[in-house]
Amino acid sequence: MAENNVSRQLDINGIVQGVGFRPFVLRLANRYGINGKIANTSSGVSIRIEGIQKKIESFCNNLTKESPPLAHITEILIHSEPLVHFSDFTIAKSRNYASKSTLISPDVSICPDCLSELLDPGDRRYQYPFINCTNCGPRYTIIDDIPYDRPNTSMKQFTMCPDCQAEYDNPYDRRFHAQPNACPDCGPHLELCDNSGKRIPDQNPIKRTVELLREGNIVAIKGLGGFHLAVDAENHKAVCRLRKRKLREEKPFAIMSYDVNRIRKYAWVEPEEETLLMSSQRPIVILKKREPNILSNEVSPRNNYFGTMLPYTPLHYILLSYGFLALVMTSGNISEEPISIDNDDAFERLSAIADYFLIHNREIYLRSDDSIVKRTAGATRIMRRSRGYVPFPVFLYNRVPQILACGGGLKSTVCLTKGNQAFLSQHIGDLENLATYDFFQLTINHLKRMLDIDPGIIAYDLHPDYLSTVYAQEQQGVEKIQIQHHHAHIVSCMAENMLDGPVIGLSFDGAGYGTDGNIWGGEILISEAKQFTRVAHLSYIPMPGSETAIKEPWRMAISYLYDAFGENLWGLDLPVLKEIAKNKIKTIIEMISKKVNSPYTSSLGRFFDGIAAIIGIRNHVFFEGQAAMELEMLAGEKTKGIYDYEWVSKDMHRVLLQPIVYGIVKDMKRGVHPSEISSKFHMTLIHLFSSLCEIIRKERGLDRVVLSGGVFQNSILLAGLIQALEAKSFQVISHKRVPANDGGISLGQAVVAAAIAAE
Ligand code: ZN
Ligand code: ZN
Ligand code: FE
Repeated sequence: MAENNVSRQLDINGIVQGVGFRPFVLRLANRYGINGKIANTSSGVSIRIEGIQKKIESFCNNLTKESPPLAHITEILIHSEPLVHFSDFTIAKSRNYASKSTLISPDVSICPDCLSELLDPGDRRYQYPFINCTNCGPRYTIIDDIPYDRPNTSMKQFTMCPDCQAEYDNPYDRRFHAQPNACPDCGPHLELCDNSGKRIPDQNPIKRTVELLREGNIVAIKGLGGFHLAVDAENHKAVCRLRKRKLREEKPFAIMSYDVNRIRKYAWVEPEEETLLMSSQRPIVILKKREPNILSNEVSPRNNYFGTMLPYTPLHYILLSYGFLALVMTSGNISEEPISIDNDDAFERLSAIADYFLIHNREIYLRSDDSIVKRTAGATRIMRRSRGYVPFPVFLYNRVPQILACGGGLKSTVCLTKGNQAFLSQHIGDLENLATYDFFQLTINHLKRMLDIDPGIIAYDLHPDYLSTVYAQEQQGVEKIQIQHHHAHIVSCMAENMLDGPVIGLSFDGAGYGTDGNIWGGEILISEAKQFTRVAHLSYIPMPGSETAIKEPWRMAISYLYDAFGENLWGLDLPVLKEIAKNKIKTIIEMISKKVNSPYTSSLGRFFDGIAAIIGIRNHVFFEGQAAMELEMLAGEKTKGIYDYEWVSKDMHRVLLQPIVYGIVKDMKRGVHPSEISSKFHMTLIHLFSSLCEIIRKERGLDRVVLSGGVFQNSILLAGLIQALEAKSFQVISHKRVPANDGGISLGQAVVAAAIAAE
C-alpha cells in the first residue's frame, strides 16, 4: 500500500439497513480502489476505509449523492484512525449491540426490476406473489426486533433454497441480504379457502380468486399490512352486499386499479396525483370522479371523489392483471375494529362478510392500514399516515427527551421521541372498542422495543374519558403531562414545519376537551410549544344529546336555529323542521333550555354539520364529518357574496354565529340554491377568520398563522384561507407530512411535553 494512505472511520445513521446500502458501499469502494470493511450496527452502519486521501474524499462525497433509492442518511460521523492495512473491502457480519437506534424502513411497493421479473415467463419467480429485493418489499410489518436481519422477521420460518441463498450472499446481487428473499421453492405460498376455513385445492389460487370475484363473491385477501375485503368495483350487487355485510353504509370504499390509464377511465388524474399514485409509498389518493363512469355508484356514494391506489404487492399485480377496471379493496375489519392480520383471526372475524379467503403463510407482525393522501392548495396533504410512511420519523427542531405521547380518541396514533426524531405510529383507529385499545397498547410496546425507547414522560389529552387518557394514568414511575387538544394540533403543525412559536394558531375541528370543561373546536390560540393563550373562539352553543349530536346533525341545526330565532324558529320554512317530528324537536329545545345533557361547544366542525342540516343536505350521518364533507362538495363555483359576520371583543374575541345563521335562513327563504349557500358560507368563514387574524396581528405583533385540525381537510377552507391570509401578507403554515386531523395530535403532544419538561 502507498505510504500516503489514510484511514477513516465512518458511522452512518438513518435508513441504511435492508435497502442495499452495504453492496452499494462495496461497489463504491471498489470503484475508488479503497480497502476496508462495512458492518451493520444497531445505530446504522459503520465503515472503515483506507486509501489515498483524494479517493477517500471522492468516496465520501458520493456516499450521499449516489446512495440507493430507499436509503436515507440522517448523520455521518467521520474520524481518523490508525492504518490497519486491509487487503480488500469486505462486508462484515451483523452483530447485536446494546443501543438500538437504527431507522427501520417503511414497507415499500414492488420495484420495477421485481415487477418485470414477475411478468417474465422465463424468470424463476414468474408469477411468484412474494417476489422482492433490497429495493422493495415488506419491512415494518414483518420486523419484530432490530437489527433488521432475517431471524428478527416473520421470514425466519422459511429456509432459503441454494439459489436464493446464493443471491442473498452475493454482494453484487440485487437480493444481497434482502431479508424477505424467497422463491416458489422455499418461500411463502398462497392458499384459497372457503369461509369455513376449508382449503379449496387449485393449481392456481389467484386465477380461481379472479373467477370468484368475477362471479360477484367477496374475497378476503391477505395483503402487506393486513387483510382487504375485495369485490369487483363494477359489480353493483357485490358492492352492495359488501356494504351490508360490513355494516358500512356510506363511507367510501378504497379501490385499486392496475395502472394509471385504467384509473383515468373513472377519475381525473393531475400530474402531481399521478406522481403520488406511482410513489413507492403507494397511498390511496383522493381523485375527482369522472362522471359518468362504469363503477358501481355504491363504491363512493354521494361523493365527488374516489380513493384510489395502484397495486403495491406482487399479489395485487397478478390479481389485477386479469383485467378488472378496479377492485374494491377496503380494510378487512368489521365496522370500526382494527383490520385482521392473522389468518385465524380473519376467519373468526371476517367469515360473516367474506365468501372466500386468499391467505398466505408469511406472518404480519404489525398491522398497517393503507395511507390516504390528497392534493390541496398546491401541496400533498396526508389524511392518514400509515403504510409506506411509518416508521419514518418526523425530524424535530430541537433534541427532546424520550417521550410517549398517547394521542386523542378518534383516528388515533401514538408518538415516541428520541433525540431530534419523532416516530409517529401507524393509524390505530378510533379508540372506542376493546380491540382497538389492544392494538393501541400493542403498538406502543412494539415501537418501544424496535426503537429502543424507554419513555420517562407520558403526554396525553385533557379529556378524562379517552381510553388513551385512561392508559396514561395507569402507567407507573413516569412523569405525566396533560395537554390541551387544540394546542397539540397547532404544535403538531409547528413541529412538522420546524417552527418555533409564538404563532397565531387556527385550531378547527370537531371536538376536543377545553381547559374550561367545554368542548372546543373553533379556536384561535396564540401558541408556542410550552404554552398557549386562547384569543378567539366561536360562541358556545349547546350540543343536545352530547355525542348523539355528532351522529344527528339535525340536533345541531335546531341548536343554532334556537340560538338565533328562539321560539320563532317554528315559523321558519326549512326542510329540517318538516323532516324531523315536531315532538322530537320540542324535546331537543327542552334539553337546551333546561341544560340537560347538552354540553357547550365552540366547534367549527359542528357548525358545518348544523348548517348542512339547515340547508337540507342530511339530518343523520353514517360517519363523523359526513355532513360537513357533503356541504363542501355541494359548493358551487366561486361566489362573491358573503354573509354578515360579527364578533364581540372583551378579554377575548367571541365569534357570533347568529348573523351567519340569519343570512342562510334568509337565502333559503328566497329560494337560493344550496350550492350557492354553501359557497357563500365557505367564503364567509374565509373572510371572517382572515379579518380576525388581522386584528390579532395588530394586538400581538405576530404574522405567522398556523392552520391545524380536522376541519382543514376541507379543501375550500384550506385553500381559501391560505390565499386570503397570504394576500394580507401573513406567513401561512399548514400540514403536509402529518395529518391535520387527530392522527397528528400525538406529535404535538410530544413536543409540548418536551417543552414543559425542559422548564
Ligand atoms: Zn424489488
Ligand atoms: Zn428459494
Ligand atoms: Fe382534533
